[in-house]
Amino acid sequence: MTDALWFDPSHCLIGADWIPPKETLTLINPSDGSDLAQITKGCAVDIDAAVTAAHNALNGAWGRMSAVERGRILTEIGRKVLERVDELAMIEALDVGKPLTQARADAVALARYMEFYGGAADKIMGETIPYLEGYTVYTLREPHGVTGHIVPWNYPMQIIGRSVGAALAMGNACVLKPAEEACLTALGFAHIAREAGLPDGALNVVPGLGAEAGAALAAHPGVHHISFTGSVRTGALVQQAAGTNVVPVTLELGGKSPQLVFEDADLDAALPFLVNAGIQNAGQTCSASSRILVQRSVYKDVCDCMAAAYSELTVGPAMADLRVGPLISNRQKQIVQGYLEKRADLTQIATGKLQNAPDSGAYVLPTLFADVPTDHSLARDEIFGPVQVIIPFDTEEQALTIANSTDYGLVASIWTRDGARQMRLARRLRSGQVFINNYGAGGGVELPFGGVGKSGHGREKGFEALYGFSTLKTVAALHG
Ligand code: NAD
Repeated sequence: MTDALWFDPSHCLIGADWIPPKETLTLINPSDGSDLAQITKGCAVDIDAAVTAAHNALNGAWGRMSAVERGRILTEIGRKVLERVDELAMIEALDVGKPLTQARADAVALARYMEFYGGAADKIMGETIPYLEGYTVYTLREPHGVTGHIVPWNYPMQIIGRSVGAALAMGNACVLKPAEEACLTALGFAHIAREAGLPDGALNVVPGLGAEAGAALAAHPGVHHISFTGSVRTGALVQQAAGTNVVPVTLELGGKSPQLVFEDADLDAALPFLVNAGIQNAGQTCSASSRILVQRSVYKDVCDCMAAAYSELTVGPAMADLRVGPLISNRQKQIVQGYLEKRADLTQIATGKLQNAPDSGAYVLPTLFADVPTDHSLARDEIFGPVQVIIPFDTEEQALTIANSTDYGLVASIWTRDGARQMRLARRLRSGQVFINNYGAGGGVELPFGGVGKSGHGREKGFEALYGFSTLKTVAALHG
């Protein structure tokens, strides 16, 4: 594998230098359990050096660069990512286990984030504020300074694109800690960024264990903002650590996102979204739709159609590019299987089928349950695997109550032709995003994204992220 890369995956990037490892971790290919590559096992000392390099960048060429120039570099990174889309897709497929087509879509999204934030870099402006006689008052949008980015394994390229892209656009210097399970594209991206002219220290990448390198980054007093995507448990730890330094955090912690299907919905249009939103990336998606709420009059139809679609789902190695790949690891497989073992009392209505999947891979069959009580753990917990539950409802009010009944609130969708109902529910659903007669809007680099409740706080993606990755200074001049 390592021979196929244009970079040495065992090195980490600190300032201008690719540093060889003192200790290493092994990346595993989840499709067959084989060793993929050795990566740096970064420690607190490496994180400290990376934070220092980021400070140096802010005091050097990067800190002096105009917004237009920053934008040009980001746009150039996007262009170079597009040149390497197939290579990035291949290494992401091997590292994460996601089917090649899905990995390719992630690489294209990474390029798109660079294009979007490259174009946006010089379009964030302060304002002048009418004030007392003799004053001129205005605001300046400024970078936080050094931003820490702690990224999970499920969508490395997309999450790096949305957080590092927006942070660089605003002139921050970034320290990126990718996940220990999957970090090849983070390193490949950093190489591309350097080739595109990103100055020394504007982006530093230190792989390592969460409890070691991640914790050191979250607690570092030289970091001015932390962006974290991952589990609720770790997010709370990161927020506590950042709180000690009184540093703002953006937390994106997943969900239990519902789709509400009413009897007047276009069921043919809905069906692919109902299924795909649950099984994409083997269900390891923060915005996965794991709860399907269906009005009783069409309940049996929807159950039958979804069951038929599930029975067609093929599961196998990422490079075979089937509908579903393996989970990220055998540890994640055990977590998901633990949930499936709790289902004795539930009605399992369909599963997918394995196709040339080695026993040594981390495969879990997509599994669909009907008639799941709303207080069952399968209807409440973020399982992070290819498992969906179908829940019946009678009235709009009841659907809303069920939809809003978990601790999470990331994404929801409403399937109905009734315009008034669409507007009512879009307001009343407790969720960071609401989709009407679709789910996910194709990823939407431009669309602000983030949660309420235990799904987290702060917004990434779109223009909104640029406000999150900057701070506002008010200047008041008394000139008489
Ligand atoms: P995690 O939250 O522990 O890991 C995410 C990132 O945080 C990784 O880079 C990890 O190294 C880092 N990290 C871990 N401990 C840390 C600490 N103490 N301080 C700072 N950083 C730390 O997630 P996981 O263990 O990989 O997965 C566990 C569960 O989390 C999954 O089953 C799933 O439910 C959830 N998850 C959610 C998302 C999401 O996109 N919302 C992504 C990954 C995992």
